[in-house]
Amino acid sequence: MLDRIRIVLIGTSHPGNIGGTARAMHNMGLADLALVAPRCEPLTSETISRASGADTIVHGARRAETLEQAVADCTLVVGASARSRTLPWPMITPRTLGARLPKELSGAESRVALVFGREDSGLSNAELQRCHAHVHIPTNPDFSSLNLAAAVQVLAYECRLAWLAQQEEPEGSEAEPNQPMASHEELEHYFGHLERTLIAIGFHDPALPRQLMARLRRFTLRARPERMELNILRGILTATEKQVASAQDGPRHESDDSDTPSP
Ligand code: SAH
Repeated sequence: MLDRIRIVLIGTSHPGNIGGTARAMHNMGLADLALVAPRCEPLTSETISRASGADTIVHGARRAETLEQAVADCTLVVGASARSRTLPWPMITPRTLGARLPKELSGAESRVALVFGREDSGLSNAELQRCHAHVHIPTNPDFSSLNLAAAVQVLAYECRLAWLAQQEEPEGSEAEPNQPMASHEELEHYFGHLERTLIAIGFHDPALPRQLMARLRRFTLRARPERMELNILRGILTATEKQVASAQDGPRHESDDSDTPSP
């Protein structure tokens, strides 16, 4: 289970935090680290010193330019956030996150990403809206922001507790494996397709977005669609696009005909 949990750091600016993250991960038995557009050289003497022997995790880290690339194959993406945002999103506690992991990771292709933001500005709204849920570590409301590596430590510890609890369960009591869930990449293709179709049928005006796509994202991500369910939705969109195209073709032919002078 721990092998299929990815820690994703976005735009990190202090190498010490990358080293501290590697140490926290290795202590808790996690190994999959992704660095998205770091704003510092990830491997410095400070990284090595803060990693205290866990720098192999930094050496083996995935590198990505965007969050999408780093989590494309993940079936559950959870963003760690120190504060609430304008459009409220499903919010879970670290303990609830841990409790969900065994079932989430029971399918052969499932993979979970825990996403952490920049030291100075956290995660952007666009990044947060690409997550199924947000996790907030309960802290003093007057001083809520943890050091990045400390935040990773808390969530990595919850992952380990959940894994240990699973080891203690008698064999055969594991949750039934789920149907394959839609991956982040499949969901992003769906959202792109949905937006194009909504524009084509005149329901969505990108010049006046009114958070429509963000609300549809939140609704869809909350439903946790399986791959097959998402394929049905995409089939509906494709059929809608065909109808729109033939409706547009129809009148054009008629007007073409009417413009044609009679012989
Ligand atoms: N100043 C930033 C916080 C940056 S801390 C802000 O106001 O958003 C760097 C990262 O650590 C955050 O993006 C978040 O991923 C994580 N983090 C820090 N404190 C946290 C908390 N209380 N709960 C969950 N994640 C937290």
